[in-house]
Amino acid sequence: MPPRQAPSAPRAGGAAKLQALQQAVLILGFVRPGSLVRRYMPCGNPACRCMGRPPRLHGPYHQWTYKVAGRTKTMRLSEEQARLCQDWLRNHKQLKRLVRQMEQLSLRETDRILGAISRR
Ligand SMILES: [Zn+2]
Repeated sequence: MPPRQAPSAPRAGGAAKLQALQQAVLILGFVRPGSLVRRYMPCGNPACRCMGRPPRLHGPYHQWTYKVAGRTKTMRLSEEQARLCQDWLRNHKQLKRLVRQMEQLSLRETDRILGAISRR
């Protein structure tokens, strides 16, 4: 017969869930903050198709933007660079999601553990 769990031991489900979240972080790869925007623009030449009716704008142009300390950083990217960035940006979003889930899970579990121990 397996030994009974002490009241302060984490629920089996909680520990397993935490481990699954940790594993998911390990396999993420590069995590790049910020976001990608894709835009079409006129060049300003009045004779160009982008100034016609209807206008046929140039692009798409890819731009990565990132806000750091209240300032927005931007970088122009090629199609290929944008594709790479997309994966890293997705990883970053996923990392943030995983961290949030870890926090929520840990809050629940540590509340339970603290609640099971009498105050001295
Ligand atoms: Zn043009």
